Amino acid sequence: MNLKKLIRDVPDFPKQGIIFKDITPLLGNAKGFKAAINNMAKKYKGKQINKIVAMESRGFIFGPALALKLGCGFVPIRKKGKLPYKTIKEEYQLEYGTDILEIHEDAVKPGENILIVDDVLATGGTAKAVCSLITKLDAKVVGLCFLIELSFLNPYEKLKGYEITSLIKY
Ligand code: AMP
Repeated sequence: MNLKKLIRDVPDFPKQGIIFKDITPLLGNAKGFKAAINNMAKKYKGKQINKIVAMESRGFIFGPALALKLGCGFVPIRKKGKLPYKTIKEEYQLEYGTDILEIHEDAVKPGENILIVDDVLATGGTAKAVCSLITKLDAKVVGLCFLIELSFLNPYEKLKGYEITSLIKY
């Protein structure tokens, strides 16, 4: 199944010059969504993943579906101020300014194998911040899994040493 056909390019969203990769046609296609989750899961079966960690908001679409498929737990990472219990934080660079991501301090345990999941890998800044949060909690990032990778933005530069898989590359 050609999943790339189910991704819609939306020029100049959310601002001028960005070509937004709209995943909603894929999500609305039962066979396409299933194929995406199955293919993402295939690479991690038998890898002893304890938890999937995903960041809001589109990571929450793929992360839990993959967690059910792999039989592991799911941990949400949110923007500052949204998680109710004690958190640890990581500041990261945006195109303009910075933002802060948070995880509950007891959400992953030391030594656990963690798979990070999101819809799109662009510059890699968000994924790098998530890796830092996992490392601060003494857990192990065993891989990063994306539906889409924007290779022309060189995201691997920021993520040296990590195992990265993505189903669709641009
Ligand atoms: P980055 O930190 O640059 O890797 O950006 C990753 C986050 O921004 C992901 O959570 C994506 O959902 C979103 N994102 C960045 N660029 C795009 C794009 N061209 N189309 C859709 N989502 C994007």
